[in-house]
Amino acid sequence: MKKSKIAITLTVLALCASLLSGCFGNKNTTESTNNSAGNLTQYETLEPMSQTYFIFDTIVNVKIYDTRATKDNLKDIEDILKNIDMKISRNQETSEISKVIANAGIAPVQVSTDTYDLVSKALSYAERTNGMFDPAIGKLVGLWNIGHEGAHVPAVADIEEALQRCDYRKIEMNDDKHEIYLQEKGMDIDLGSIGKGYAADVIYDYLADKGFHSAIIDLGGNVFAMGSKPGGKKWTIGVQDPDKERGNGIGTIQVEDKTIVTSGIYERFFIEDGKMYQHILDPRTGYPVDNNISSVTIVTSRSTDADALSTTLFVLGIDEGLKFIENTPDAEALFITKDKKLYGTSGFKEMLKKTNDNYTFAN
Ligand code: ADP
Ligand code: MG
Repeated sequence: MKKSKIAITLTVLALCASLLSGCFGNKNTTESTNNSAGNLTQYETLEPMSQTYFIFDTIVNVKIYDTRATKDNLKDIEDILKNIDMKISRNQETSEISKVIANAGIAPVQVSTDTYDLVSKALSYAERTNGMFDPAIGKLVGLWNIGHEGAHVPAVADIEEALQRCDYRKIEMNDDKHEIYLQEKGMDIDLGSIGKGYAADVIYDYLADKGFHSAIIDLGGNVFAMGSKPGGKKWTIGVQDPDKERGNGIGTIQVEDKTIVTSGIYERFFIEDGKMYQHILDPRTGYPVDNNISSVTIVTSRSTDADALSTTLFVLGIDEGLKFIENTPDAEALFITKDKKLYGTSGFKEMLKKTNDNYTFAN
């Protein structure tokens, strides 16, 4: 049996987005509008300037809580998103990343500072994890094609061959010329693990530059809760129950000026012969990571880091992942396992107001 849930979900959501602005809940995290007593909070009286976009294969929703915000700001954000997509998307033939890939084994390609810095950032995580997080994993990502129509388990020989092309140490960076060179033909970069976080940061910086202090930037589960609610209270963000439809949480956290990013097994996957294959790959084996984790949620100050960290911790697993996050300043993590156990950093456990008794703390 084969099943591709994501294709259906995305189609429904895309329709939803094109018909109606702001009609959906978030993928992994949900912004709550009630305080703990269930009373309306002050900010709800201020209607946000809000728009929904469909880009990066995902639904993006931005809400600006400021009476000075205008439609022009929403248009600027659309341009920002398109601009990032034009730089880093593998699906856009003319993007800078596509040019880098097309020139693998041929020649270095000069790219914008944005692309250069993002690839450098991804490489820093690759180095920190000895390649468990690897932006050079594109060949394998393309082969498995998880989350897209027709995904199936590839032939072993094809996996072996793709694995040979996945090695971050063969991405050559030239700081002076801002050039990126993939040393071998057939190599491929994939920034799917970090791109949405990066986009959230760019939007955040744009809004900050315009003098706004209160916004929710949501890229399909990569949430940036900018500043605080109008009135100064913290934002309440729900942590998604991986086993339930979106909007059902295991609990909530209250944050101020933080980004919350989740990597999970539950939205991009397929099932073949009764086995589930999710979309984060193990660069040692060439197969999807097959551990007991349902999701990893990160809370930190920059979304690019949160996005890289959520994928990284997923690949590293609970023990290694918790060690890794302890050595990362200003970042908290929560693992949810398939058997409904919660493993968190002490900071996350302090923050989490658990509302679902099916889940229990295990550390
Ligand atoms: P999502 O895109 O659902 O938010 P993630 O941020 O965790 O989830 O990114 C997962 C994506 O990262 C995959 O779809 C793939 O494009 C890419 N990827 C898969 N395995 C790895 C890996 N080991 N290192 C870096 N990127 C990966
Ligand atoms: Mg990620």
